Formats: sequence, structure tokens, C-alpha cells
Amino acid sequence: MTKDANDKREGMQLCSGCGVCAAVCPRQNLAMRQSDYGMPVPYRLSEDCPKGCSLCRSVCPFVSETSVEELAEEQYGACSRGGHRSEIGFYDQGYLGYAESETVRKAVASGGLATATLQGLLSRGEVDHVIAVRPTGQAAPSTLFEAARISTPEILTECAGSCYYPVSFDAILQQIAADDDTYAMIALPCVCQAIRLAQKKIPRLANIRYLLSITCGTLKSTCFTDYIAATVGVDPKKVVRICYRDKSQGLPVMQFPTKLAFRDKASGDIRYKHTTWLHGRIAAAFNTRLFSPLACNFCDDVFGECADATFMDAWLDDNAQQPLGKSIALFRNPELRECFENFAGIHVEKLSIDRVIDSQAGALDAKRIGLAVRYHDASHRVGVIPSVREHVLPPFCRIPLLRCWRYRVQYHMSRVSFSRWHESRGCPKIFWKLLWVPWQTNRVLSRLMRIFPKWLYQLRKLREGRL
Ligand SMILES: Cc1cc2nc3c(=O)[nH]c(=O)nc-3n(C[C@H](O)[C@H](O)[C@H](O)COP(=O)(O)OP(=O)(O)OC[C@H]3O[C@@H](n4cnc5c(N)ncnc54)[C@H](O)[C@@H]3O)c2cc1C
Ligand code: SF4
Ligand code: SF4
Repeated sequence: MTKDANDKREGMQLCSGCGVCAAVCPRQNLAMRQSDYGMPVPYRLSEDCPKGCSLCRSVCPFVSETSVEELAEEQYGACSRGGHRSEIGFYDQGYLGYAESETVRKAVASGGLATATLQGLLSRGEVDHVIAVRPTGQAAPSTLFEAARISTPEILTECAGSCYYPVSFDAILQQIAADDDTYAMIALPCVCQAIRLAQKKIPRLANIRYLLSITCGTLKSTCFTDYIAATVGVDPKKVVRICYRDKSQGLPVMQFPTKLAFRDKASGDIRYKHTTWLHGRIAAAFNTRLFSPLACNFCDDVFGECADATFMDAWLDDNAQQPLGKSIALFRNPELRECFENFAGIHVEKLSIDRVIDSQAGALDAKRIGLAVRYHDASHRVGVIPSVREHVLPPFCRIPLLRCWRYRVQYHMSRVSFSRWHESRGCPKIFWKLLWVPWQTNRVLSRLMRIFPKWLYQLRKLREGRL
């Protein structure tokens, strides 16, 4: 990669806060610090770097020239029996199912196949420890979630659930590189990519024997959690815990029932507040990608293509309307799949790869079609070159005009959401007033898209001379 291209990418501040760069630094010159917009970012502690060292840059998924496809080819090109699809990468077999234990199923995000797999690996002695994400139970200035090393299967239930909150793995990776124990790790797709890149540079990171991923539509900065709290009248600084997928309310998983635990200002007792992402203002923020880091707006990996297995929600049929939900597991590593098939306590059936892809229509829409628009605009108008696999994106000229403009408006809202949140001083009402123009434009475009889809299709065919 030329220095120029590198600088241009860094100029876009593409970073998901994984902390892998800080973990591999031989001089421990990098530390992860919370930025004003609620993301951990690498902070240089000293300029004392060995001459020619660029280890930190070489493991960054947003800077490295090694694509996720090349990393996946190295891992699964020879052993994956299923084949390769541009949406999903290599695959061996997909499964639909859930964990049979009621305790596990009530704690997990959807069906609990991720937790059950990690528990299975631990209890069968396939690995010594699991790296997962766990709530800290502490209010600001502490983070609400942290990366944790777990050695007993039962404790993994505490890590269950989805964490729409940035987490850095720098300290835990340094720990892994310092011992001889074996690990299974679960992480978001970009973090898996950073880990695979780091494994090439730091051989001891091969101790991560199994790398699992969760499908990812977008991450959110900590501002999103503050915004949810403020929207339901809770002081974000008093929040000690948040469960984004709370099953205690018996609501359909699709509604994303959310439970906040906060310290009461007057009594100091812990109190609870429930809401759902269908709450008008929360749904609006999620659907327009507010508080999504810039990196997520230039990410093309939906399925964690370089992970041994990927877990996702079964957004299929009526599963989304059930209060307990089911999950989908997609395996690339045949050895891990064989282990999984022999685990006790799971109920699974095989699922075709087309159905696995169907289940992620929403994420594929945002990260492939929406990305085609963002990538076109970034490279043609601003002249910046984000590291994106052009060949997995649909041709820009094929994207209907209204849709194109809706992606543009949403991208604008996503980018300005951080500064507007600060300007509003954490008041959701002022925040939406500041976003009034793009928000109304987005609504008009969405309405027009519902009214004119057939008409626009005909127009496109006419434009292409197919009518
Ligand atoms: C930011 C984000 C975006 C997502 N986007 C989608 C999507 O578009 N489509 C979709 O189908 N699914 C998405 N998921 C995954 C989904 O929410 C479930 O995690 C997945 O369905 C597995 O369900 P499960 O019940 O088997 O998981 P569980 O059994 O609940 O286990 C989930 C495991 O993932 C770990 N984990 C949770 N959050 C994080 C995190 N931020 N970083 C690292 N590890 C974590 C937990 O520690 C736990 O071990 C997303 C998750 C996150 C965190
Ligand atoms: S994405 Fe990860 S590796 Fe890249 S700069 Fe951010 S913290 Fe470092
Ligand atoms: S959308 Fe991409 S960059 Fe953002 S957290 Fe998910 S995998 Fe990482």
C-alpha cells in the first residue's frame, strides 16, 4: 500500500476500536482511549517506535491491503466443502436452532447457539478459555462492557446477548500472547479480520484455536446507549447495565426489548426501565444508522468471512415474532462443525445456504447496496479511497435514484449524529430538532419509495433500453 493511500484511509478515521493494533505494539506505545464520540481509539503514548516498524498498521482491517477474502482463502480455501458465495464467503454447512437449556435461552440474544457452542468447546476441553464480552455492572466513567476471559461453561451465560457497544480487546490479547493456554474467541467480523492479520505477525496468537464471529449490520458508539437512556428519561451517567435484547418482557425478539438498570439519584437504589427499539425515536435512530462509526459505513463483511463459524439471528418465517427466538450457525471449519454436531443441549436442523443469506437481507442491503452508494460518493466526489471490495458491490448505476438518495441522506445523518448529540447536550428533543431537515427528507424519500417502486422500475428499464 502506498503511504498516500494509507494516509487517505486514515484521514477517514476508519476504526472500530478493536484495540488489536495496541495489543501487537512491541513497545506498548499505543493505548485505547475513549473519544468524544463514544468510540475507543488508539492513542499514541510516545513517538519511540523502532525504525520501519508498522506492525500496528499491518493488523488494522481498515488499513491492511490483505482483504478478508484472501485471509479466508488461506484458512478455508482447501477444506470448506460447501463452496463460496460473494455474500457469505466460504461455507461448509448452515444450521437453524436453539439451546435447550431454559436459563441459557432466556439470557441469549436469539437462539443461543453461540453461547452453546462456546460452552461445548469449554466443557469438552477443546480449549482452556473463551474470550467473550461481559457487562461490567459499573456506571460512567467505566465502560458498560468489557472483554473477558472465561474458563467455566456456566459463567458464559453472563456474557450471553448482543452488545451494541464498542469493546477493545488489547489487554486480553496481550494476555493470550503471554501464555500457552488455548482459546476460543467470539468477535465482530472486523475484529476477526484484525485477529487473523495479527496471527500472521504474532505466532503465539495461534493459541486462539477457534475464532467465532457474529453477523454484523453495524456497531454503535456509546452515544447510542446514552441516547436510549435519555429517550426514556434516565440519566445516561447513572446507567450501570443495559440488556439490548431482554427476554423477561415476553415480547417478540424482533422488537429488541431493552432493559436499563440505573442508580436512582435520590435513594441510590438500582431501578429498572424497559423500552423497545420499536419506540419511535429509538427505531428512527437505529434505522438511519445514527451513532454508527464511520468504519461501519465502509464495511462490506456481513458474515465474518474469516471466522471458523458465524452466528446470527434467524430473521426467517415467524422466528422473529417469537419471544425466545432461534439463531443460525454457519460453519466454515469442518473440524468445528463436527464438534458442534456432537454437542449436547442444542436443538438444530440443517439450513440451506440460500436461507442463511435470506435471513440477512437487511444487513446485506445496508452493507452492500448502501455501501455501493457511499463508496461511489467517497471515491468519486471526495477522492478518498476506502478499503472496500468493489467486486462484491452491485454496480452503482443499477441502484434506483430514490434509494440512492435515501442512502445518501442516511449517511449524512450517521456522520453528523455525533456532533448534533453533543450540541444538543444529550437532550433527544433538541437532537431531533437539529436533525429535522435530513430526517424529514429521509421520511419523504421512504414514502416515495413505497408509492413509486413499480413506476421507477419501468423507468429504469426504459433508461437501459430494455422496454
Ligand atoms: C453490533 C452487533 C450487530 C449485529 N448485527 C446483526 C445483524 O445484522 N444480523 C444478525 O442476524 N445478527 C446480528 N448481530 C448478532 C446477533 O445479535 C446475535 O449475537 C446472534 O444472532 C447470535 O445469537 P445467539 O443467541 O446465538 O448469541 P448468544 O448466545 O447471545 O451469544 C452472543 C455471543 O456474542 C458475544 N458478543 C456480543 N456482542 C459482542 C460484541 N460487540 N463483540 C464481541 N462479542 C460480542 C457475547 O459475549 C456472546 O458470547 C449483531 C450483534 C452485534 C453485537
Ligand atoms: S480498527 Fe482496530 S487495529 Fe484498526 S486502528 Fe482501530 S483499534 Fe487499531
Ligand atoms: S459493521 Fe463492520 S466495521 Fe462495523 S463493527 Fe460490524 S464488522 Fe466491524
